Amino acid sequence: MDRIPMFSPTYQNEAIWPALVARTEEVLRSGSYILDKHVGQFEQDLAAYVGCRHAVAVASGTDALFLTLASLGIGPGDEVITTPFTFIATAQAIVRTGATPVFADIDPLTLNLSPSTAASAVTARTAAILVVHLFGQPCDMDAFQELANARGIPIIEDAAQALGARWHGQLVGGIGDAGALSFFPSKTLGAAGDGGAIVTNRSDLDASLRMLRSHGATERYLHIALGTNSRLDEMQAAILAVKLPMLDEWNRERVQIARGYTERLAGTNCVPVAQDSRGESVFGQFTVRVTDKRDSLKAHLASCGISSAVHYPKPLHLQPALSGLGYQVGDLPEAERAAAEVLSLPCYPGLSASAQRRVSNAVGDWHVHADLDGRG
Ligand SMILES: *Cc1c(COP(=O)(O)O)cnc(C)c1O
Repeated sequence: MDRIPMFSPTYQNEAIWPALVARTEEVLRSGSYILDKHVGQFEQDLAAYVGCRHAVAVASGTDALFLTLASLGIGPGDEVITTPFTFIATAQAIVRTGATPVFADIDPLTLNLSPSTAASAVTARTAAILVVHLFGQPCDMDAFQELANARGIPIIEDAAQALGARWHGQLVGGIGDAGALSFFPSKTLGAAGDGGAIVTNRSDLDASLRMLRSHGATERYLHIALGTNSRLDEMQAAILAVKLPMLDEWNRERVQIARGYTERLAGTNCVPVAQDSRGESVFGQFTVRVTDKRDSLKAHLASCGISSAVHYPKPLHLQPALSGLGYQVGDLPEAERAAAEVLSLPCYPGLSASAQRRVSNAVGDWHVHADLDGRG
């Protein structure tokens, strides 16, 4: 039987193949590959989609986070509160500005940053709160907005896994001061390579981001700050502009797949991450918690030709690269427990009904056998 991967772009590409070929050929023939009309058009389309005044396209989601922090003037001496249960890029961007990441524990149900632990981590040095809409599920933006307003702290949304997700009907990314997006191929909107963007309603951030992504220049060879080279290619912008109109439909498929798994896994010890009813996840990942023997389930799935992934096996506060921050095992117990229990299952547009059945049957079989063996 065919192996079921964690992600495949084939189905998405096939749905729009003629347009993809026409637009990429157009870019190639134009001879203009950097910051031209395709990037401009995609930025307009993206801002309109999210319902924001501005979108600035950059080279990656990692750069989107870093440039957003830099545009807010965050640097040495500042603290940025974030979650320890996310991809390393979130914290890496903070460290790269010279600021210090301050990890606050997650909500044990949604696995998103907990507003109450974040609130208790606020100090006089707190320069921003960087929330992550993990696995495509919006954070409790009501509570974070309230905290931001009460303390005058900007909120940055890491929406790298969540483009298309909604909180009280409003698209994430456009709720806080700025939202960072990633177009890594397996994200909900994926390029044919790396890419990212920032969406914001703040024109000061828009101007600063445009300046910083292109060597701090406000016009050719006039550099008002030291920036970097972080631009989305014309080629990727053209591809993303073709894919963006399909995003909601593809996200609905992700939601349907997640719904199917949730129904079929009921009664097993694989418990899907809880969903906050005020939000609508796009299931950038479909993730379960396996309270016992997660790694043996992963091995069982692999033996059935089914890929799965642990997002993430080691929370950021325990990563060797961040050991200088001085955290220890036990400091953030909910994140540590989640890291030991989570498993993401294949969930992407184009995953066939039979593949979905194979995945849930394999999980169900393991559950039954694990029970009979006393999970030994
Ligand atoms: C993917 C991801 C990023 C980084 O995006 P890249 O485009 O790969 O640099 C940042 N944060 C989170 C939560 C992500 O999942």
